Amino acid sequence: MDKRMTAEELVGRLDEALEKGHIFALYQPKMNHSTGRMIGAEALMRWRDPEFGMQYPSDFIPVLENNGLISRADLRIFENVCRFQRRCLDSGVSAVPVSFNMSRYDICETDYVERLEEIRRRFDIPVKLLHVEITESSAIGGMELVTNVLEKLHGYGYIVEMDDFGSGYSSLNVLKDLNVDFIKLDMRFMSGTIGGRGGAIISAVVQMTKWLDTPVIAEGVETLAQADYMKSIGCRYVQGYLYSKPISEDDFFEKLKETGFEPVAPAIEMVSKMDAVKFWDPNSLETLIFNSYVGGAAIFTYRGESIEILRVNKKYLKELGMNMTEREILVSDPLEVFDQANRQLYLATLERAIASGEEESCETWRTICSKICGEDKICIRSFIRLIGKTEDQAIFYAMVQNVTKEKQKFSELYDSERKFFIAAEHTNSFAWEVDLSTMVMRPCYRCMRDLNIPPIVRNYPEPMIESGLFPPDYADYYRGWMQQLKDGVGELEAVIPLTVGRVPFRVKYTTEFDENGKPLKAYGSAAMVMEDNEPADPKG
Ligand code: C2E
Ligand code: CA
Ligand code: CA
Repeated sequence: MDKRMTAEELVGRLDEALEKGHIFALYQPKMNHSTGRMIGAEALMRWRDPEFGMQYPSDFIPVLENNGLISRADLRIFENVCRFQRRCLDSGVSAVPVSFNMSRYDICETDYVERLEEIRRRFDIPVKLLHVEITESSAIGGMELVTNVLEKLHGYGYIVEMDDFGSGYSSLNVLKDLNVDFIKLDMRFMSGTIGGRGGAIISAVVQMTKWLDTPVIAEGVETLAQADYMKSIGCRYVQGYLYSKPISEDDFFEKLKETGFEPVAPAIEMVSKMDAVKFWDPNSLETLIFNSYVGGAAIFTYRGESIEILRVNKKYLKELGMNMTEREILVSDPLEVFDQANRQLYLATLERAIASGEEESCETWRTICSKICGEDKICIRSFIRLIGKTEDQAIFYAMVQNVTKEKQKFSELYDSERKFFIAAEHTNSFAWEVDLSTMVMRPCYRCMRDLNIPPIVRNYPEPMIESGLFPPDYADYYRGWMQQLKDGVGELEAVIPLTVGRVPFRVKYTTEFDENGKPLKAYGSAAMVMEDNEPADPKG
C-alpha cells in the first residue's frame, strides 16, 4: 500500500533515491490520431520508495522545487531518457523523439543547458530525439531568463514544446514572445462541453496557434470524442489515456517495436510573406499596419460552408457600422448578415481567392442589426486574400470598405431622372447606360442593389455574360446588339430571358448621338414581362 511521504522524508531520502534508482521515468506515447501512428513520447517522473511505495509528481515535485532540489531529479530523468534512446539506437528499434520536463526552477540554474548537453554527448544521442517541455509559468521568473534559455536550447538544436498552453491567463502574450516549436494544449483545463463554448475556445486557440505557424498536440485526451473533435478542428496530434497511460520503459520499448513511427508535419502552410509571430505582437509594425493603415480588416477561416472570424481590427467594426465589440464579433456567425444571393456571391469570391492565390474582391449587401440603429442595409466591398491553408480549411485576410454611401451617391447622380427611377421601382424595371466608345456600363441603383451589379462595369457586356445574368445562349445575340448600337442603330427592343432563372424581360435601348450623328451613349432598360410574350429567337 502506497503511503505519502512528508516533505522531510522526501528531502532526506533524495540522495539515496537517486543513487538506487528509485526515481525513474515512465513513458507516455504521443500519437497522430489520423493515422494511429506514434510521433513521440513524454518522459514522466516517478519515485518508488521501498518503504512508502509509489510517490506522485503532484506531491513530491513541489517539495523538491521548494528545496532547490528539482534540478537534480530532472537531470536524472534526462539521463534516463538518453540511456533509453541509446538502447533503441543500439538495438535497431526506430527511436522516436522523447520529451522531458524542465521545471521553471531549472531555468534559473545558470549552467542547466550545458549540463544537459554534457549528458547528451556522453550517450551520443542525436539532438532531434530530445524535446524539451517548458510551461508558460516559466516566464514568471522573467521573460529574459526564459528567452535566454530558449535561445541556448535552440542553439544546440533542441525542439521546445510549450506545456500546459492555455492554463495561464496571458497565454497569447507569453506565446508570441516565446519562440516555441510545439504547443501542448491540455484538455483537462478546458471547461464546457466539446462543440459548445468549451469547444469554441479550444477551436479558437488551435486557430490562433495555426496562425502562429506552430503545431499543436492535445494532451489529457481521454475519450474518442475528444480526439475526434480535436481532429475536426485541425489538431491531429494527441496524448492521453485514450491511447495509453504512462508506461514503464520496457513496455514502451515493446510498444515502439509494434507501432509505426512517423515524423511530424508542419501544421499549416503559410502562403503569405507576412510575419505571423509579429502579427500578434501589439507593438509590431504588422499590428500597427493592421490597426492603423490598412483600414477595416479581418482574419477568418473558411471550412465547408462556414466562416469563423479570428481577428478584426477597430476600423473593421467602424466600417461595418457595428455597435459590437471584437469579442461579440468573434462569437457571431458572419454569414448570418447575408441573404441567399449575397452569401453565394461572397462564398464564390472565397473560392476564387483559393483558386487564384490573388486578391479577389466583391461587393455584398448585408443586413446589420445594432442596438442603437435597429436594422440597416449596408454594402461592403471586400478585398480577400488567402494567407494559409490546411487540408480542410483556408485562412483569409480581408479588407473591407463600406460603400453604401458611394452607392447611394451614385443613385443621386440620377436625380434629374428620379421620377423615372421611382417609376422603375413601381414597374419592376431596371435602367443603365452604356458609353459606346469605351463600352463602360453604369447601372441604376436598383441594378446594383437587386442584381449585384457593381457601379462601373467595363468591357460590357462580357462581365454580365460571365456572371450568368445573360444566359449563354443569348450571349452572341446581345453582343450583336452592342455592335448595332455602335454602328448607329437608334432603337432596339426584344424580350430576353435574364438571370439564371431565365425570367423574361423586355429590354430596350435608345441611342444618343452627337451633332455629327456619331452614337455616344445607349440608354438601356429592362422590365419584367407580365403578359405571355414569346422571347426573341437568339439566332434571329
Ligand atoms: P504534465 O507535464 O502536464 O504531464 C502530464 C500529466 O498528465 C501526467 O501526470 C500524466 O500522467 C497525466 N495524464 C496523461 N494523460 C492523461 C489523461 O488522459 N487523463 C488524465 N487525467 N491525466 C493524464 P503526472 O505524471 O502525474 O505528472 C504531473 C506533472 O508533474 C506533470 O504534468 C509535470 O508538470 C510534472 N512532472 C512530471 N514529470 C516531471 C519531470 O521529470 N520533471 C519535472 N520538473 N516535472 C515533472
Ligand atoms: Ca509535460
Ligand atoms: Ca502538460
